[in-house]
Amino acid sequence: MKNITYFLPCKPSSIYINIDDRCLNDCLFCIKREGPVFYGSDLSLTGNYPSASEIVLSLKNMQGWDLLREIVFCGMGEPLLRYDCVLDVCSEIRELRKSEISIRVDTAGLWWSNNKRLDILDHIDILSVSLNAENTAKYEELCNPKIDKAYDVLMDFLKNIKNSEETYKTTGRHFPQIRLSIVDTSEEQFIPTSGRQGYAEGTFPVADYDACKKIADSFGWPLILKKLFRDSRDEYWKDKSFEESCARGIPLEFCKNCSYRH
Ligand code: SF4
Repeated sequence: MKNITYFLPCKPSSIYINIDDRCLNDCLFCIKREGPVFYGSDLSLTGNYPSASEIVLSLKNMQGWDLLREIVFCGMGEPLLRYDCVLDVCSEIRELRKSEISIRVDTAGLWWSNNKRLDILDHIDILSVSLNAENTAKYEELCNPKIDKAYDVLMDFLKNIKNSEETYKTTGRHFPQIRLSIVDTSEEQFIPTSGRQGYAEGTFPVADYDACKKIADSFGWPLILKKLFRDSRDEYWKDKSFEESCARGIPLEFCKNCSYRH
């Protein structure tokens, strides 16, 4: 089935899984605002959400499956709105590839408002949580959440992860790496047009890196600054495969360490 998986050009050994197009945010910088095509892949799902077995099958059947080193649940929406499906895929991948492959989930965390489960932490290697802002007002402006008190939900989610981390560590259980992220929105020209509407030049909200870093430090986790995608709509990417190295002709070894995209 198409639309399930895609790649980012600078991460040739990582495959990204598009599991859902729904989200509890409507971020001003979301790539979805510019349509479903992303680095040559049409990621529109329009309610046809792939099952766990369809996702696993599409991974197993892809060229280069044995070369993959990382699977990332990300896509055009919030993966953990399909919590059980993510769990099922993770279990199956682990069974098939053991520790040869790292599993990461990117989440905005707001699904926590109606699903207080954290057993996903037993199945993954990295959990990347979008912090996006240093306070409620900035979060509301940048992310347009569809639920009440979204930033409080996010903070509660993070506190519960931290509690789990402490419990896991005292009992010697494996705990995934946790990382927080913000998006550098200072390069306004790369914000989707609909997200920029109503903002005069130089007035678009930008997360305060230092204040966000303090939040990340208070949990003991790293903060990642993500750059806006700038060329993901280019025709150039059509029909490119994940095995190819960076389009800029940079050697593959460099690409693997590139932090330009995540
Ligand atoms: S949380 Fe992610 S998927 Fe959801 S609107 Fe924001 S950028 Fe888009």
